[in-house]
Amino acid sequence: MARTQIPLLYIVIPCYNEEKVLPVTAPLFLGKLRELIAAGMIRQESKVLFVNDGSRDSTWQLIRGFSREDTHFAGISLSRNRGHQNALLAGLMEARDKCDITISIDCDGQDDLNAMNAMVEEYLQGAEVVYGVRSKRETDTFFKRTTAEGFYRLLKWMGAEVVFNHADYRLVSARVLREFSDFKEVNIYLRGMFPLVGFKSTSVYYERHERMAGESHYPLRKMLALAFDGITSLSVKPIRMITGLGIGISFVAFLLILYALISYFRGDVVSGWASSLIATCFLGGIQLISLGVIGEYVGKIYMETKRRPRFIIAERTEDAGQD
Ligand code: UDP
Ligand code: MG
Repeated sequence: MARTQIPLLYIVIPCYNEEKVLPVTAPLFLGKLRELIAAGMIRQESKVLFVNDGSRDSTWQLIRGFSREDTHFAGISLSRNRGHQNALLAGLMEARDKCDITISIDCDGQDDLNAMNAMVEEYLQGAEVVYGVRSKRETDTFFKRTTAEGFYRLLKWMGAEVVFNHADYRLVSARVLREFSDFKEVNIYLRGMFPLVGFKSTSVYYERHERMAGESHYPLRKMLALAFDGITSLSVKPIRMITGLGIGISFVAFLLILYALISYFRGDVVSGWASSLIATCFLGGIQLISLGVIGEYVGKIYMETKRRPRFIIAERTEDAGQD
């Protein structure tokens, strides 16, 4: 069912220590916003909303400068660094009641802005969520590409519903965001959570470029952490796998016990040192891994029970006035 009303768009952009890239990309975001306004696809009051995620450089000063120069720019600043997902959530929640649709995108210019036209088009055709999907990843290093794709496969296999090759470039309607506000968990993995909200969704495809300036905040260590978080926030399959492993190993152990008993009754009791040592070590290892995985879930439950705020907004450009 096609929509007839022109939507008010907020482009939501998390920024952490991005003073190098913001001066390059901010005009591009503004240009795209103006183009969509001129094409009559979005309303004149649409905005680019930056979320400063507790940057230690001059990112916030830059954002305030932009908002003074052009009313299409706005910004909020978190009280400290909370990480990409929380910063994005803060921006989406801020935009929720001020707009009809949001498009979230990174501030480094890696994602093709032109895909926004197709996203808004899909919304006008009735979609509530439009996922931006990378059609190819040639500009990423081979290592980043294979690890990232391996991760999507792993997630899917673990039973978490994710859109293949979709990061956090997506259009979400205010209606979906209002429902999403009831997802109160503190361990958030947005790209895996929006499919859970439901509603009509679709994908648009785009090519991913290289970062325009500055450096990636996702070295392997953080990517692994994100992958682990994604799995443990969306799926309990690892716990079930441990149970399965336990049953399998118990079966092998049972066979070993039979073997030991038979050897005992045959009289050759001195042997068996090697096998008992191997079994002990093996089981010790398995038990430690299992405890670790279960501990990870217990830790998550612990964090959830605290019900701490997921972000705290310290400042808004609109509060700042024209100083
Ligand atoms: N980011 C953030 N908080 C953080 C780390 C990153 O808001 O603690 C933002 C960052 O400014 C960028 C986006 O999240 O807009 C994605 O980060 P990055 O480009 O470094 O990741 P990559 O594209 O390499 O995965
Ligand atoms: Mg990037």
